Parts: sequence; C-alpha cells; structure tokens
Amino acid sequence: MKQKVIIRKCADYDSDKIAGIVREGMEELGAKPEGKILLKPNTVIAHPELFPHAFTRKEFLDGVIAATKSLAVNVNEIAVGERCGIVIPTRFSFKNAGYPDIIKKHGVKTHYFDEVRQVPVEIKGQENLRRQLFIPKPVVDSDFLINLPKFKAHPWSRMTLSLKNFIGIQDDRHRLVDHNQFLEHKIADLQEVVQPKFIAIDGIIAGQKMMLTPTPFPLGAIVMGINSCAVDTVGCHMVHADPKEVIHLRIASERGFGPIDITEIDILGDFPMEEVQEHTKGFAFCMEKIDDYFGDDSNLSCTVGTFPEEHSRDYCWGGCPGALQESMHIFRGLYPDVDKEMKKIRYVVGNVKGPLNLADDEKVIFAGNCTRWKGEIDGEKVSIEGQYKSPHEVDETKTKSNDMLLKTITTLFQAYKNKGSRYLHAKGCTLSVAEHVNYLSALAGIKNPHFDPRLSLGLTFSYWQMRFKRFFNRLLGA
Ligand code: SF4
Repeated sequence: MKQKVIIRKCADYDSDKIAGIVREGMEELGAKPEGKILLKPNTVIAHPELFPHAFTRKEFLDGVIAATKSLAVNVNEIAVGERCGIVIPTRFSFKNAGYPDIIKKHGVKTHYFDEVRQVPVEIKGQENLRRQLFIPKPVVDSDFLINLPKFKAHPWSRMTLSLKNFIGIQDDRHRLVDHNQFLEHKIADLQEVVQPKFIAIDGIIAGQKMMLTPTPFPLGAIVMGINSCAVDTVGCHMVHADPKEVIHLRIASERGFGPIDITEIDILGDFPMEEVQEHTKGFAFCMEKIDDYFGDDSNLSCTVGTFPEEHSRDYCWGGCPGALQESMHIFRGLYPDVDKEMKKIRYVVGNVKGPLNLADDEKVIFAGNCTRWKGEIDGEKVSIEGQYKSPHEVDETKTKSNDMLLKTITTLFQAYKNKGSRYLHAKGCTLSVAEHVNYLSALAGIKNPHFDPRLSLGLTFSYWQMRFKRFFNRLLGA
C-alpha cells in the first residue's frame, strides 16, 4: 500500500477553514483520534513581533483541535504538549503564540513538557545511538499523537517538518545529548519512541533560511499524512529540496520508518506538486558554514577547524556553529546594526592549527568541548584542550541541568571573570543559542536580549511559574 500525503490550498489563517480542511484530511486518511490525544505543535520560539514566523500559528492549532474534537471517539483526554527551545519556559512561548486562549476555548489540557516527569523509554533498533531515551510522561501515555510542525527550512538540517519536530518532545536535560554531529541520528532515534497517528503541517506561511528568525514565504498550503517519512519527502519536493540530502529523513527511511522515494507516495489534494513547485521557485535555504558567513562588514569573524567524528570531519552541522548563526540573527532582529556596532570577536571552533592573526582589539571565544588550539595571544602561551566525548562516553542518565537562570548566571559570571583577558573558552557540547547570546553580549558589548524589556518581564514570570509547577508535579509524582 502506497502512503498517502495530501496537499491542500489554504491562503490564510482562517481557523474555520483550517478545521474543515483538516477534518477532510483526517477522514480521507482514515485517522480516527481516540483515547489520550496529544497535539504536538512547534513553538521552538514564539513572539508576535520578534519571532512571528517561527511557530505553528494559534489559528492552525485552533482549527486542528476543532477537527479533532469533531471526529474523536472514546476520548480520555485531548491535550496540547510541547517543549519549546531550550532554557525558554514553554509557558512563555505558548503565551506569546497565543495558545492559552485557544486551549481555554476548546476546554483541552496543556502539558508543558519541561514541567512533567521524564520517563526512560527503551528503544531497540540495531542502528540506534542509544538504548534508551528520556521522554515526557504525557508523550509516553498518549494513544493518538497529532504532529503539528511548522513548515520551515533549517540551517542545520535543511528542513524541519514532521521528523524534526520530535526534537521538541525532550526536556532540556536530555535534548542536548547528541545534539552535535549526531543530531540527525538523534532525530531518527526519537522516531523509535512514538509515531504520530496524524500529521498536519502549518505551511500557510512557511519559513525560509533560519529556524528561529525565518524569512516568511506565503506557501499557502496544509500538508497532511499519517507517515512522517512520506510527509517529509513530499515537503522536500514542494520546495525543491532533495529528500536524500535531509540526513535524518534518509536515516529514518533506511531504518524502515517510511518512504523517501516520491514514486512510492500517492500525493492527493487540490494543490498539485507542479503548481506548488512553480510557486516555490525562489524558496531560500541557508546551509552556509560560518567560515565566511558574517562577511567583511561584520565585527564577528570565525575560524573553523576539523571536528571529531569521522562522518563529518569538516563541519558540525548540529551544534555550536549553527547556534552561533541563530544567536546573531536574534541580535540582528533586535538591533539591526549589531554587526558593525559590536566589538571585534573571533569565534574559534573545532581543532584549529596555526596562528589566529588577531587584530589588536579582537577578543576570542573558543567555543565548545571539541575545540583545541595552541598558540600565543599577546605573547602569552595559550593551550585550549579538547574535552569532547563521543556518544558512548556520554551517559544519558547523568545529564547536567540546562536551567535558564543557572545558565545565565554561570555564562555571565564566566564572562565577567575573564573581563581582563583576550579570550574565553565556552565549554559545552553543544553550546545552546542562549549561551551564545550571553557570551556574545558580554564580550562584544551588545545589549543582552534576555534583559530586553519586551522579553524579560514575561520570561522571568514564566520561569518562576515553571519552577513552582515542576516542583509540585515532582511532589505529586506527575
Ligand atoms: S563542541 Fe560544539 S562544535 Fe564541537 S562537536 Fe560539540 S556541538 Fe559540535
């Protein structure tokens, strides 16, 4: 039996129209929501003005919940659950996405995955990186998972569609494990835990280039299916991407999760592939390495070495370099002239050999645990020793906290301690976007977005709500 994927035209965020399209899609695909139904959107980051195109829109969620309620049988629970971008409390992203009103309107539950118990789940595939993954209890308990990704290009993995949206089911302690040169393998591992029973992608306004600060593209489409590989393969073709170049899709397909060959998929709906492709001729990606990414006009420059793992010696696509790009795009969104106004910074990552040829007023961030360098800065001998651990040396049961407050304090304190020095070694594998923001703001003298009044009050309030709720959930064993 060929997998079916439906592409439907939908030009605007009209909840009633979305509900009708999704209901028809569920019926055509034979998807019957039942039992514990969990809807998993993508709210990696959300803000109506600062990050308007990064997340599954509330009107889309509204429409899908309405369609789900109209078709569901033997319902025990309908809930919306997610873990947004790390360190940010998911409450904060949900509020900025406008979800609480929609959730209240439909009388459904919310599961903030950063506030609930994480359960070890054994996974058995021969090719897996790990034998177990830690997953929020509501995901493990769900009977019918509805995956609601945002249709976006991704600067680390080319596309983020159904498969990649599962990165948002892990909490901060476990999300950064293997979020490095093994990111694509990790995404494939996550498919072993649970498979969505229905997928609807918000491609009404799609995102180009970046994942947190995408350039909007009015794609005008809703993509639906019941198999992640099939849906992602169709999504790739919609924007002229080769599915085989989306590594996690290739790995997941090789592990038997579904097709990667378009001829093995029946494409249905009222938006034919040729018409979609004609419309998306100018759809833009950003799979650029950081070496020359910031250009001569920027006071940020990068020196990139080699990386530890055989399969990707020349670059680490899933870790620090991409997080640097995303953090700079956040700065640019808030302060458009940041590249010229920031102090000179050299970002050094990987195993680098030879002199750095620094300008007199240039500071150095040695980024990440894999970074090694030996040389002289201002006549002083400097030796940066690598501390990288390959996946079999990392114990997923002994992960460190990535708490927002703790990370902010430790990164800013480290930057303060190194105030008089020309360089700093920022350790971690991977270093998150938020850590990059803190280090860059401290060393380059850029205003820290964490303290921007448009974000800081709500962020702080949500953070303490999250901490209290997590504490009570632990007491109750929830
Ligand atoms: S330290 Fe950063 S760049 Fe190096 S392997 Fe880890 S994630 Fe990649």
